[in-house]
Parts: sequence; C-alpha cells; structure tokens
Amino acid sequence: MIKRTRIEELVEFVEKKVLIKGWVSVVRQQGKMAFFDIRDESGSIQGVVFGKPEVLDVAIKIKPEYVVSMKGVVNKRPEKMIKAGTQNGDIELEITAIEILNEAETPPFPINEDTIDKDEEVRLKYRYLDLRTKRMQKNLRLRSDFVRHCREFLFERNFVEIETPLLTESTPEGSRDFVVPSRHYPGNFYALPQSPQQYKQLLMNSGFEHYFQIARAIRDEDLRADRGYEHTQIDIEQAFVEREDILSLVETMIIHTVESLGFTIKDKPFPRLTYAESMERFGADKFDLRNDEEKAKGVLSYAWVVDFPFFEKTDNGDWTFSHNPFSMPKKEHVDYLLQQERVGEILTDQYDLVCNGFEAGGGSIRAHKPEIIEAVYQIMGNSTKETEEKVGHILKAFKYGTPPHGGIALGVERNVMNLTGESGLREVQAFPMTRRGQTAVMKAPKPLTVEQLLELGINIKPKKEDI
Ligand code: ASP
Repeated sequence: MIKRTRIEELVEFVEKKVLIKGWVSVVRQQGKMAFFDIRDESGSIQGVVFGKPEVLDVAIKIKPEYVVSMKGVVNKRPEKMIKAGTQNGDIELEITAIEILNEAETPPFPINEDTIDKDEEVRLKYRYLDLRTKRMQKNLRLRSDFVRHCREFLFERNFVEIETPLLTESTPEGSRDFVVPSRHYPGNFYALPQSPQQYKQLLMNSGFEHYFQIARAIRDEDLRADRGYEHTQIDIEQAFVEREDILSLVETMIIHTVESLGFTIKDKPFPRLTYAESMERFGADKFDLRNDEEKAKGVLSYAWVVDFPFFEKTDNGDWTFSHNPFSMPKKEHVDYLLQQERVGEILTDQYDLVCNGFEAGGGSIRAHKPEIIEAVYQIMGNSTKETEEKVGHILKAFKYGTPPHGGIALGVERNVMNLTGESGLREVQAFPMTRRGQTAVMKAPKPLTVEQLLELGINIKPKKEDI
C-alpha cells in the first residue's frame, strides 16, 4: 500500500505513483474527462481523469468540498499548459482511482473565494467552512508562526511558561468582569481574568524570575471591530529589571520574529517618544510614522511611548489610574505619590509599544513595595479597609521579599492584524464572537436549565414582556 503524499511534495514525484487525500475545490466534467482541483493543508493540484470509465463513474458523483482519496501518476504538463508562478503549475495528477471518503453539502459561500465581503454572521455560523478559505488559512498560520517565534525566543532566554487560573478574583484592569457562578458557594462568583497581572507579579515573588504565558484575557467590553470579549496576549514578567531591560528584550523579540517572517521594519531601533511628546505631535498616544508608499508595501513601523501620567480624572472628578494601578512612579515622583501631592504630575514607568498607529503592547515597571500600592489606592479614594479588600493579598505577599520587577503584554491579535493587514480582530481569530456577542458556530449565551439555576442558587428576574 502506498503512503499518502502531501500535495506540496508532489513535485518530487514526477512520473511516480502517488496517493493524495484532501478536499475537492473545483470540479469540471467534460464528456469523457473530468478535471479537479484538489487541496490539502499544504497546497493544491489539478487532477484529470480520462480514458478510465470506471474512474469516471465515481468522478461524476463528486461535488466541491467532497473529501477524497485519489491515486494517480504525477505528470509534467505540456509546455504551453504550464501555469507559471502557481504552486504545482507545471504538474498535474493523472487520476487512476478515486475513493469518496465523505460527501459535502453545497457550502453557504464558495470556499475558493475570499469571504471578506460576505455576511459576517453567516461566516461565523459556518466558521469551520470560512476557515477553509485561503486567506483565513494564511492568517491563522501566520498567527501560529508569530506566537511560535516569540515563544522560542523567550525559551532561549530562560523564560518559563506558566499558566495562571481562569477562574479567579476580579482584577482592576479597567473593564467589566465576566463572572462565573459557584455551585459550592451559591451567591458567590468567580471572575474570568482580564489579564494575569496579579498572578504574574506573585510569580516574581515565588522566585520565577522570568515568566511568560500565551494568556487569554477576557473583558466584558463594548464590541467593536478591533475589540472582542476575548483576546490573547504574550504576557511577560521579569524580576530584577529596569525599564530598559524590558524595552530591549521586547524590541529584540519583535525584530527577530517579524523579520524571520519576512517583514520589513521602518525604524531600528524603535523610535521612543514620551507621552507628552506624542500628544503634542500627534494628539494621541498612538501614531503611524509610515508614508503612503510604506503603508502600501506593508512596512511595519514600531515605536515606544514612555512616561505616562500615573493618574487621570474620572468624569466625576476622582483620580483613577491611567494604565495599571500596580505600576511604579518614576523615581523622581515616588515622594509625590507617598505624600499624595501633585497627583496630576506624577509620571509612571509605563510603556506602550505602538505599531502602525495601534497599541501593540503595554506594560510597566511595577511597585514592589506595599506602601506604594497603598498610596495609589488611597489617591484613588479607597479607605484602608477598601484597599485591603481589593488588593490585600498583594500587599501581604509583597511583605515577604518581593524583587523589583516589570513586564509587558503584547496583544497577539493586534500584532497579527498588523502583519496580515487585516482591519478586524475577528479575521485573525479562529472562533471569535459575533458583533452581537454570540459565539461562532455554537449557541452561547443561552439560558440555564431550571436544575442548573437551582443548583447555583440563582433566581432570574422575569423580563417585563414575560409577565
Ligand atoms: N496587564 C496589562 C494588560 O493586560 C499588561 C501589563 O502591564 O503587563 O494590559
């Protein structure tokens, strides 16, 4: 029995017998002949049946997206039939046997066309078919490559990959939490993590000086094109570092990763602007330094924004943190913070990575002393008791010899969007939510059964229209 050959390897099998397996993309029947485009994950090839009535009998039953196993001989195409520049454009498969492994209904949209302009609800309902298309295959493979390069880079530099809990306590990341009811403690709830922020800092305390995780962050945000409920981040934290260490680590990782993937970076080293400079020049803390030609060529323009204000005023005039309550004020502003004075002037060692006008990552050097975190929470209007309630576990942990540390999180989707040139987050996620917050393919959110509600001690308030 011959073994299956991947379609990308067929060029090495000219004049040899092969067995391929895959999906039929295109089928054309012409009297005593039938032509196919057959694809597997590695590529596509044209196949032809002629002069074999028993094979033709099977061939005429086949429709697009049927799953087939085909035996045949790889032939060089005649000179004038060569499709230069296309994969397998100079060979074809002379099919000698076909087995239909599975039939397929007519898909709701053609699989061999780009689906970007198709109704997104339909694409997401049939996401498993949408993912078969060339662009989606390319996007998800590029995403995998991006993550792989970063991961390998970090492993080479002593980083340890550690998972942190998904069922946890609310973290102050600035969005709403998704909550999960507890069966054992009716009326009590877990929160899904908005980021692994506190756990990664606790790991610094645990003696893991180099941590990373490809972490899921879950936030109940208003849905927009570049936002969903879930995103993935390359989450990094390191002990005994200063700002420069993290910036240089991430800059080297990004340059290494995107150049290995064949992309061009506009400026190296990455330009560095303070928040104040950025606001003055661009009126925003993110900007695009590329000209039109560079944009057309897909050049990547990275830059750092540093020295963010620690606090900003809320609509009702209270102070809140601008980025991250666990950040360290800049050295020269530590006293202002501890004395809780000149609050609006306090800058923090927070940094953002900007790419092509978007925020591609953000992090900070952290406060590793409890009194700094306490002062931050007091400035934000918390009493000692409220601070204890919110971050008492961190304050306690930080009394046991916490090393100075800092970190960053890079948004995987945002970075891959910049690489692919896609303008929507969902184009680089396998099974994203719909714009209306419903799961692709499956049917969440949906009601619980009465038994589940009883078990969880949950009473659903009837809707007005049901009364
Ligand atoms: N926790 C931050 C975020 O998710 C990133 C960081 O400061 O490391 O945005």
